[in-house]
This record gives sequence, structure tokens and C-alpha cells, in this order.
Amino acid sequence: MPLIEASGLVKNYGETLALAGLDLEVEAGMVLGMLGPNGAGKTTTVRILTTLLKPDAGTAFIDGIDVVAEPRRIRSRIGLTGQYAAVDERLTARENLDLIGRFFRLSSSEAAGRANELLDRFRLDEAGDRLVKGFSGGMRRRLDIAMSLVARPKVLFLDEPTTGLDPRSRLDMWDLIDELQREGMTTLLTTQYLEEADRLADEIVVIDHGLVIARGTAAELKALIGGSKAVIEPSGATTLTEVADALASVRGGAEPTSEGGAIMVPVRLGTTTPDVVRLLDAAALAVVDVAITSPTLDDVFLALTGHASDAEVSA
Ligand code: ATP
Repeated sequence: MPLIEASGLVKNYGETLALAGLDLEVEAGMVLGMLGPNGAGKTTTVRILTTLLKPDAGTAFIDGIDVVAEPRRIRSRIGLTGQYAAVDERLTARENLDLIGRFFRLSSSEAAGRANELLDRFRLDEAGDRLVKGFSGGMRRRLDIAMSLVARPKVLFLDEPTTGLDPRSRLDMWDLIDELQREGMTTLLTTQYLEEADRLADEIVVIDHGLVIARGTAAELKALIGGSKAVIEPSGATTLTEVADALASVRGGAEPTSEGGAIMVPVRLGTTTPDVVRLLDAAALAVVDVAITSPTLDDVFLALTGHASDAEVSA
């Protein structure tokens, strides 16, 4: 049984249809990446699944429990890290963690123990007794995740966990999420960063206008748009036709092209640079350079929706 299961979720905000019948399943232990541009409906989905918002139609279950009918039982099973850190600035990191522990009815010694454990784990032990007001963005996010783990949830929701972070803090956050994933935490991660979904998620759903428009692994989504390209810089008199013929056994569907002196040959997914070098060698063609470019998830989004994701512009 999937740990998260939503079906036909609909949500309107006045005239705006935010979710148009969204279906979602997340198996235990997996990280599902929910990828979509601004306004696609990611946050609305997370808010419904975390009991903060009621859907207009559709059903959602977490660990077999109905999200709408039994919100209290859901809350003890989930952790949520929002886009806007739910951290109280006027308190220290330790006090924030302690407060959450008490909220979940841990005894004071249990809450204190859990706070220590999490401060240590999230590299906040030294800053633990400082006011959060002076924390960097990355530290706040780490505290935010730590807070969402106090009650040892079965399912973690990470809503755009790295939006607004500097590159260094983003890499830190990725490492942290990797670690949680290795420990088997079932996670729904929303992101507008295609690279982030590619790096962290076992599987990705692409959403647009409140609907899932594709689901697959990063590799499967990339394959949707037909594989990779071999980019060959020829030397001397080597022609496009010669290169294309030499690579016949690995060619993908589309026609080879040339641009700025380089020859681009679409090749099947999985074709490697050494494969291409060997084939060109066997045909005795002289080349200066060979590279394989993989399609990015930006390309996938474009192929699926006919328009670029907003993330492409802002990332
Ligand atoms: P973002 O990346 O910006 O968070 P998102 O994919 O999470 O985007 P949602 O926040 O779920 O998207 O928004 C979906 C749609 O619903 C958008 O068109 C948004 O403008 C609209 N919307 C969201 N919340 C409200 C609200 N409280 N009132 C009115 N419209 C809303």
C-alpha cells in the first residue's frame, strides 16, 4: 500500500483552479519529486496532504488514514518543511525544537533529548543556544527540517526546500535530504529546480495547471524527448554524412545537424562518448573533440507542455 495516496484532488481559489483532479501515489521509502513551475499547484497539494487545507473534491490518504476525516491522526505521522520556515525567530534553536517536542506531548526530558540529538545531527549544536534571528538562511532551513523530524514522522513533506538558498547551502541541504533518503524516509519533495528533482528524487511527477502531466524516473522523462546528442568537432575534411554513417548503429530518430563547425548527431539514450569515439575510429574519421550532451529536465518540460518552465527563467 502506498504511504501517500491522493486521487482526483480539486481545489479552487475563487476563479482560480489550482488543482484540476490531481492523482498521486508515493510508495514507502521513496522520494517523489513534484516538479512544476510557479503556480502549478505544488503548494496547494502539500497543504491538502498536510491537513492545512481541505480539497473541494477528491480523496487523500496517508498511511491509510483519511486526510480530511482524521487530520489529528495525520499530524502525528507527518513532518512539513515549508517554503517559509516555521521557525520562531525570537527563540533559540533549542527552544524551537523543545517547543515542538512539547507540542507533540513528549516529556520535558524526552523533548530535551530529542532537541540535542537533532541539533547535533543538523550541525546546529554550536548555534543551538543562539537566537534564530541571527541565523543564516541555510541554518534556518536546517532547523526547519530538524523541527519537522521531532515527532519521528513516517512521511516528510519538503516544499521547495532550497528556494532562496545560496549554492553552498543548497548543496548542504541536498546532502541532508540524501541522508534522510538513505534512512528510508518517505518524502514528497516539491521543487521548481529541475536539477534538484533529478538529483534527489527516485521518481518525478511533472505538474502543470493542477494536473500530473508525466511521471517517471529522471532517465525515463529524459528518454521521452528521444535521447542524447553526440556533438562532434571534426578535423580536416570529415563531413556530416561520413560522421552520420559511421554512427549508424547508435543513431537516434532525428536527423544530424551542424552548427558552428560542430556536427550534432542524435543518439540513443545510454550511448557513451567512448562508443562514439570507437565508431569514428573504426571509420578512420579524424575528429578534434567528441561529447555527449544529455537532455535536461528543462527540455522534458518543454517537450511535455510546449512551454518552458518558469524555473528556467528564474533559476
Ligand atoms: P509556487 O512554486 O509559486 O509555490 P505552486 O506550484 O506551489 O507555486 P500553488 O501555490 O499551489 O502553486 O498555486 C496554484 C494556483 O493557485 C496559482 O495560480 C496560485 O496563484 C493560486 N493560489 C494559491 N493560493 C491561493 C490563495 N490563497 N488565494 C488565491 N489563489 C491562490
